[in-house]
Order: sequence, then structure tokens, then C-alpha cells
Amino acid sequence: MSATRAVILAAAQNKWLEERASRYKFVRRSVSRFMPGESLDDAVRAAHQLGARSLGTVFTHLGENIAEAAEAQSVVAHYLKVLERIRAENLATEISVKLTQLGLDLSPGLCEQNLRRLLAADGTKRTLWIDMESSPYVDATLMLYRKVLAEHPNCGVCLQAYLHRTPNDIADLLLEKPSIRLVKGAYREAGNVAAQHKPDIDARYFELARTLLVAQTAGSVRRAILATHDPRLIQQITAFAAQQGMGRKQVEVQMLYGIQRTLQEKLARDGWKSSVLVAYGTHWYAWFMRRLAERPANLWLVLRNIAAR
Ligand SMILES: Cc1cc2nc3c(=O)[nH]c(=O)nc-3n(C[C@H](O)[C@H](O)[C@H](O)COP(=O)(O)OP(=O)(O)OC[C@H]3O[C@@H](n4cnc5c(N)ncnc54)[C@H](O)[C@@H]3O)c2cc1C
Repeated sequence: MSATRAVILAAAQNKWLEERASRYKFVRRSVSRFMPGESLDDAVRAAHQLGARSLGTVFTHLGENIAEAAEAQSVVAHYLKVLERIRAENLATEISVKLTQLGLDLSPGLCEQNLRRLLAADGTKRTLWIDMESSPYVDATLMLYRKVLAEHPNCGVCLQAYLHRTPNDIADLLLEKPSIRLVKGAYREAGNVAAQHKPDIDARYFELARTLLVAQTAGSVRRAILATHDPRLIQQITAFAAQQGMGRKQVEVQMLYGIQRTLQEKLARDGWKSSVLVAYGTHWYAWFMRRLAERPANLWLVLRNIAAR
């Protein structure tokens, strides 16, 4: 991991910096590059605009680790409202939730109840996605995912290619017909837990993407989402899918709002499934810092916004 990335990821967890960053207009302007706004209305407006360009959407409401069960209830209440709104506006939108937001740190039982409430409300047409957080949460997340999957086959989980354990996790999950969103991984992890160098992570990502696409064709994965902005990997993945004779609608690439917009649209125009994860909410600091860490060149965006003050 580069020193810059390590420093930015450490700063992502700093409460003092978070409190100060939120006060500055130039920071908020930089954040707006990656978020349509802080409210659900902003996210819905973005979903309509993206939908008009054949891009599906996934909403995630940004939040922090919670300290009380009542906070988890208000997260659930918010997502129930989101699901109603998605139905009312007939949007091609799914949701992606963090289990810590649903109470995982307080009690896995409470978190499971909350997740089940959302799954029951979501029906069977869409996939409800579970984000993957830092490595200490992986066991608990996968345990809960397995518990709900049999009853709710429309539940999906994110897996991180940088973790050494992920090939085994995928092999185990394939027995249960999961839906998997594959990402590289966004947290600061030690070398004994996760690969540290981009070429290693990219090679592993491509290998796991191939495994998932083949498994999806064979019916042992319900839905595979390749979530990456990496043009080289996307080229390799689409070439592999074509070689395998897969239809373009069987391959879904997902990116974050505001990143590689031209590529997102080109994929959709070329007939691949292309979708966008739209984050919104007031607790954007740690999330925004992870976006800076992924591409330290984004610091220039912040500097340009300071200059434009
Ligand atoms: C839909 C989606 C869901 C995700 N969910 C999770 C999750 O649940 N858990 C988790 O740990 N991680 C999640 N991530 C983040 C992921 O782990 C990576 O940190 C992130 O996607 C960057 O990796 P990359 O695959 O884009 O490749 P990289 O090698 O980081 O980037 C490849 C290229 O993409 C572009 N790019 C990448 N990131 C940025 C950026 N921030 N700003 C501007 N350009 C950029 C650049 O051109 C870069 O050269 C998610 C990512 C996506 C797209």
C-alpha cells in the first residue's frame, strides 16, 4: 500500500478531522463530485437521470457505526421509506446496506432481525445487497448472509478480492447459490490479511471474476456483479465473457456515482449491464476519504476547490 493511501485511510478514521472537514465549503464541493447530494430526493433525481441512460442504480445511505439499538431502528425506517419510494417511482434501483448500521456491533441477533425486516419489505424482484466492511467483520457478515440466504435468495453480499481468504469464501458460498458483488476492497488491511500491491490485487480480481461468471453460467451463482472502475480489468472481463459465449446482459459492471461516467455509459450503450452505486447522506466523511485513497490524484480536486474559494 502506498504511503499516501495509508495516510488518507488513517485520516478517514479521525473524528477530529471529520468534524472540521464537514465545515469547509471546499470540502463539500469536492464531495459533490461523488454524491448527487445529501437527501433521498437527491438520490432519486440522480436515479431518474441515470435510468434515462439505461443505467441501473443502487442506493446506499451513508452512516457511521451506531451506538444504540434505536439508531439501528431509524436506519431500518429510512431504508423502508427508500424501498417504498423506489416502488412508487418505478425505479430500477436496489439498496445496499452496511450491517454495522443495522446493529451488528450491538448484537448479531438484532442485526439479523433488522436485515430480515428489510428483506421482507423488498420482495423478491430485486437484490438487496450487503456491503463488506473491514476484515474483522467478514466472518460475522458471511455468517449472517448464509442464515438469511436460504429464505431470501434475493440477498447478495459484497466480497473483496484483496483478502487472502476470499477464494475460499467464494468456494464455500457457491454451494448455496449466492449473489456476489466483487470489489477490490477499500480498507486499510495488514499484509497477512490482504494483498498490498495493485498488480497482485488486479490479478486476483480477474481470476475471481472469471470464477463468478463461469459459476453464474452454470447456475451456482444467482447474480455476479463486477464492481470496479478499472478499464483494463473491464476489458479483460468483457473479452472473457465474449470468449465464453455469454450474452452481454449476463455481465453486470457496477461503478460508483461520478467515477468513470463515460465508461459507465459506453458499457450500457454497447449492451452490457451497467449500474451505478449512488451514496447519499450527511455522514460522508469516511466514505469520501476512501474515495480519495483509491485515487490520491483526487486530492487535486480538493486543491482546485480550495483555489476556487
Ligand atoms: C459499486 C461498488 C461497490 C463497492 N462496495 C464496496 C464494499 O462493500 N466494500 C469495500 O471494501 N469496497 C467497496 N467498493 C470499493 C472498492 O473496494 C474499491 O476501493 C474501489 O472500487 C476502487 O477500486 P477499482 O476496482 O475501481 O480499481 P482501482 O485500481 O482502485 O482503480 C482503477 C481506476 O479506476 C479509477 N478510479 C478508481 N477509484 C477512483 C476514485 N475514487 N476516483 C476517481 N477515479 C477512480 C481510476 O481511473 C483508476 O486508475 C465498492 C466499489 C464499487 C464500484
